[in-house]
Amino acid sequence: MKSGMERVEIEITGWQRIAKSLFVLFILLAWVLMEKNAQAEDLAIEEPQRSRVCMMQDTIMAVPAIPLVRDGKTYYGCCEMCKAKIASEPARYTLAKDPLSGKVVDKAVASLLSVNGRVLYFESDVNRARFRKSLGEK
Ligand SMILES: [Zn+2]
Repeated sequence: MKSGMERVEIEITGWQRIAKSLFVLFILLAWVLMEKNAQAEDLAIEEPQRSRVCMMQDTIMAVPAIPLVRDGKTYYGCCEMCKAKIASEPARYTLAKDPLSGKVVDKAVASLLSVNGRVLYFESDVNRARFRKSLGEK
């Protein structure tokens, strides 16, 4: 009778060990899957339309921005306040630096790229393409 009880206990610990191993395996699998997902949705990269960019905040807008014409060139603000700010401080808001070459570019003609909603300005499409590649895009 006593030995039978012992056997039951041993069987239970055996099952517990298997359950523990399965649990660890499950956690490991979940972690691997999560890592894979994180890599896939790392960056939201897009080449936005100029009229969708608020050039005061350098962000993408859900709706077309308000145009501002200066010296025959068109800039965009998401609201009247942004538009007024661009108009009052053009040196600050109509120009940007190409993140690849460091060259100052005019936002009205620059090649646009948005990374996670943040807009970057490039002196050429070639620079933009090179930058996209450097982000590890496939
Ligand atoms: Zn704005």
